[in-house]
Amino acid sequence: MKTALAKQVYDKLLSVYGPQKCFLEHMTPFQLLVATILSAQCTDKRVNMVTRDLFRRWPDAAAFAACSQDELEQAIFTCGFYHAKATHIIAASKAIVEQFHGELPGTMEGLLRLPGVGRKTANVVLGDALGQPGFPVDTHVRRLAQLIGLSDSDVPDVIEAEICAVTPPETWAQFSHLLIVHGRTRCPANRPGCPSCELAGLCRQAKSGTAKAKPKAGAKTAKASPRKSSSSAKKKPAATAKTARGKRLRPGAAS
Ligand code: SF4
Repeated sequence: MKTALAKQVYDKLLSVYGPQKCFLEHMTPFQLLVATILSAQCTDKRVNMVTRDLFRRWPDAAAFAACSQDELEQAIFTCGFYHAKATHIIAASKAIVEQFHGELPGTMEGLLRLPGVGRKTANVVLGDALGQPGFPVDTHVRRLAQLIGLSDSDVPDVIEAEICAVTPPETWAQFSHLLIVHGRTRCPANRPGCPSCELAGLCRQAKSGTAKAKPKAGAKTAKASPRKSSSSAKKKPAATAKTARGKRLRPGAAS
């Protein structure tokens, strides 16, 4: 039953949007790993703006392993959570250099051994850069899987396992991309467009007539916003403070 539903949803989304590519710009699997770490709680557009300079300055794992935490924090500041992200990128780069001879591991098991790399990041790299099956579950995939009826779980690892069990491995990465683009365009959490949705005839939530827009994370939730509540997001990195002393250093720009 879910096999048929998944195929119908996949075919419909593919006919609507066409084949989708990875939204994060990269030249190598390692660069996609870095971009995916930066994309947490950040838009792909912002990440792409930052990585264009970032990868010119530090193109590979050896370069990131040797860079300073402060410099990297300054460069990725606009992506948010810059302290934790810089820590993970440097630690993962050092592990690649020291444990994998400078080469990004090409398996889920190997990728998960890298600091800061979870299943979502590993699946992105596997599916979009290494030509292997990978089904990343981000917030759109999780929400749509529940709404459509492909999973009843709220746990990304469970959703991944359930959808992968009923879909061909060669479609996993594309299916994830299609669900993400549909979530971004037709079915955002705060305003699902059910009346004109291409999946209305397939979607469990639409059939039940209970699809509702979630309230926007506006005034009431602003204080609870991860970006604003994070201690790492409260202070600007040292270089930003330097602007007060006359040294102009834009976050994300090479010094
Ligand atoms: S029918 Fe509504 S709830 Fe279902 S995927 Fe489309 S917009 Fe989202």
